[in-house]
Amino acid sequence: MIPIKVDLIKKAKRPGYAMKPEYITIHQTGNTSKGANAEMHNRYVHNVAPNPSWHFTVDDKEAYQHLPLTENGWHAGDGTNGPGNRKSIAIEICVNRDGNLAKAEANAAWLAAKLIKEVGSLKPFPACMKQHYDWSGKNCPAQIRGRKDGWKNFLAAVEANLKTEAEITRPIGIYVDGKATAETGYLINNSTYVRAAYLIELTGGQVTGHGDYIDIVLPAKPGQAELEELRKKLKTAESDIAALQAALAAERQRIENAKRALG
Ligand SMILES: [Zn+2]
Repeated sequence: MIPIKVDLIKKAKRPGYAMKPEYITIHQTGNTSKGANAEMHNRYVHNVAPNPSWHFTVDDKEAYQHLPLTENGWHAGDGTNGPGNRKSIAIEICVNRDGNLAKAEANAAWLAAKLIKEVGSLKPFPACMKQHYDWSGKNCPAQIRGRKDGWKNFLAAVEANLKTEAEITRPIGIYVDGKATAETGYLINNSTYVRAAYLIELTGGQVTGHGDYIDIVLPAKPGQAELEELRKKLKTAESDIAALQAALAAERQRIENAKRALG
């Protein structure tokens, strides 16, 4: 995440056609001079506009916005009515030799992902992503194009940012019996996460263990202990009855034997 400094070109100097952007066009400035960063290009585009002109310049630290997203720029080389010039948001990536190119490209991927999320008229990713080359055949963005799988990897970086952004993480309040508690939960990728120990202990159970696993002791169900006690008593009573029955049978047998002895 980098700051985006909005410093729009004066209205009179803009191309000024209304635009409903469908694409994002990626450029690299071609200027490897020391100091040819986003701030320098912001000054430059203010001087040279309306032609050329573009929407954003990104370096390894920040981005400048030079045009509103609802107006076109002249940057794609595909003519007055070309979709590059008339339907795309242009991002220039700085290649100044005193800057960190990899970081500047990563920042541009982040910015592209941010635009994809925020600008509803854009075609779905990756159909919305275009190189300057796609519009006019110019070798631009030159550094990305010059690397094996350069464009593929750039798109992967955009996609990674889209995924990260999709996993919205935010704190959520926790209420118990309608009352707010001091405990905080989290919404991560549309699932709710609450501390296990907090939740289990609320119900009378216990959570122990740290690191690789946790050990949860569930609360005893209400009435369970009493039921267990009754079962024990029933067992005792049953064995008492069995013992009495055996004693009775033995007594009967003894009486029977005595009768026979007398008879
Ligand atoms: Zn270009």
